[in-house]
Amino acid sequence: MKAYRLKIPSYTGAVRDSENPFDDEGETWFAPSMTCPNCGIWAGGNTIRLVDLTTDKIVSLKGKIHNCQKGKVIFTDYRDWPEVVAEIEHTLSLKPGTVRPGSMIGPPTGIITKVSDNDFLFPWSPFVIWVKKRVVDVFKEAGLSGVHYIPCQAEWAKKMKNKPKTPPEYWELHVTGHAWQVDSPNRKEEVICELCKRRKGGPKDIIVDWTTWDGSDFFILDKIDRMAFVTDKVRDIILENGFTNVDILPIPGVGEPKNIKEP
Ligand SMILES: [Zn+2]
Repeated sequence: MKAYRLKIPSYTGAVRDSENPFDDEGETWFAPSMTCPNCGIWAGGNTIRLVDLTTDKIVSLKGKIHNCQKGKVIFTDYRDWPEVVAEIEHTLSLKPGTVRPGSMIGPPTGIITKVSDNDFLFPWSPFVIWVKKRVVDVFKEAGLSGVHYIPCQAEWAKKMKNKPKTPPEYWELHVTGHAWQVDSPNRKEEVICELCKRRKGGPKDIIVDWTTWDGSDFFILDKIDRMAFVTDKVRDIILENGFTNVDILPIPGVGEPKNIKEP
């Protein structure tokens, strides 16, 4: 088995912005960042894509979730965190333990500054992957597993001149498949701070433990949805179709998969 990481191409300087023409994240909502006397301020949240994040839910969570575009980042003291997070999870009907400090909540949004020919875009974060409809069509046709396609709410930047009437259609790749890294401290959910329950980061050199892989074509490692990994089946499809603006980085792995899904 081989694994690959889907990543933003290595650009120099301004090329990144010209290939990924985003102004900012738009109306995305975030869980509060944590403040802790040992750790300082931190956030390392996952992406929770609730496409039904309605205005009444946002209003009832006023002061508990924030929208960076409106410039009001909320910090929560570690002593208040359990209560705040419980209210967020209850209001949004999420399982306890879903929301982490800085989790992104709600549909993917972004302000676009130009028309792009690229099939893959990395808007405002190298860990967020948007693709064109043709990519979704090809992936769906191939029946790839471990990924959801979330419709994005892209808007043209106000400053943009001569913009087409309708913004382009993009879909976010939301990866749901899973495997663990070799020797990952996250597997035991070890914390390095007893006050705020901050966990250890993963090992520096990423190695996939194939014995723990759930058989998905797309997967994340250690329940951390910052990086998207794929099998060689996905890599081949991307290369065969000539999809642009994405790097496919080989990642080492050990062990034999126990759980291969037959095609
Ligand atoms: Zn702490």
